[in-house]
Amino acid sequence: MKDLSQNGNLSAVEPVSSIPFAVTILGSGSATPTLDRHQTAQLLQYNSDYFLIDCGEATQYRLIEQRARPSRLKYIFISHLHGDHYFGLMPLLSSLNMGGRTEPLYLFGPRGLDEVITTTFRVSDGKFFFPLHFQAIEVDKPTLLLDLPGLTVESIPLDHGIACTGFLFREKPHKPRLLREKLPTEVPIEVLKTLKEGQDVTNETGEITYAAADYTAPGPAARSYAYCSDTRYNERILTQIKGIDLLYHEATFRDDNAGRASEVHHTTARQAGTLAEKARVKRLLIGHFSSRYKTYEGFLAEAQDVFPNTELAVEGHQFAV
Ligand SMILES: [Zn+2]
Ligand SMILES: [Zn+2]
Repeated sequence: MKDLSQNGNLSAVEPVSSIPFAVTILGSGSATPTLDRHQTAQLLQYNSDYFLIDCGEATQYRLIEQRARPSRLKYIFISHLHGDHYFGLMPLLSSLNMGGRTEPLYLFGPRGLDEVITTTFRVSDGKFFFPLHFQAIEVDKPTLLLDLPGLTVESIPLDHGIACTGFLFREKPHKPRLLREKLPTEVPIEVLKTLKEGQDVTNETGEITYAAADYTAPGPAARSYAYCSDTRYNERILTQIKGIDLLYHEATFRDDNAGRASEVHHTTARQAGTLAEKARVKRLLIGHFSSRYKTYEGFLAEAQDVFPNTELAVEGHQFAV
């Protein structure tokens, strides 16, 4: 048996992060209701934080189905104000309110969403018992929306006829791994701290005593997920999504309706594949299927024709980033 630890092959294996980073599909259909495809919503987990992306009708039931406690939600992102992307928000907020929530909730969405919420609560003489922070998203340029210790979220401007953005979740670079086996047994803690930051350790005369390159190896690669909601085929997103690990892109229509797709500001499965291929992403996930199609294999075949590493979004399925 080969001892891989002796010939350096082990270092060629990329380390994998143990921090959970995965997206669960709550709804992959488009506007017209069907029994097997729900309106758009996704639950993203990064570490111990939960992010809700879009909130179509009955999203709170989808959360219950997934045994995801709505009270754990801290951040909600709404891509645009077509009903199939946010008609589930009012019931969800109402339930959180009645459930006695006191922790703040951070909501990001197009201008006007705040009006809808305040009007709904005002006319029913309702009152919020928890702080609801709302940030209106600028739609003309990518904007940093959230900067957490391990992750950033930025908006992706889309082309959908009304104000609409996608969201890019990008993990921050991991620190290098310390190769303890290469270090002498007695090493001052300060030396370890410096090396862990990826910096060389020097003595008083500026001479390098421990080179980071000798005692550390790169940490796990930083991962990224982009959610591209309703949009016409739009190559302007390519720079932002270049090389990401997982791209969700809407694919409302198939080739037979390519003209219609452009007219109503949507994308075909093949176009989604083309964007994934041009951006050299690692994996593509497609969804937002029009209810005019009764089977979904055709969507997959058309996207895979251009970009083989494509999967269909399916209710309840979880995709690791
Ligand atoms: Zn939609
Ligand atoms: Zn839409």
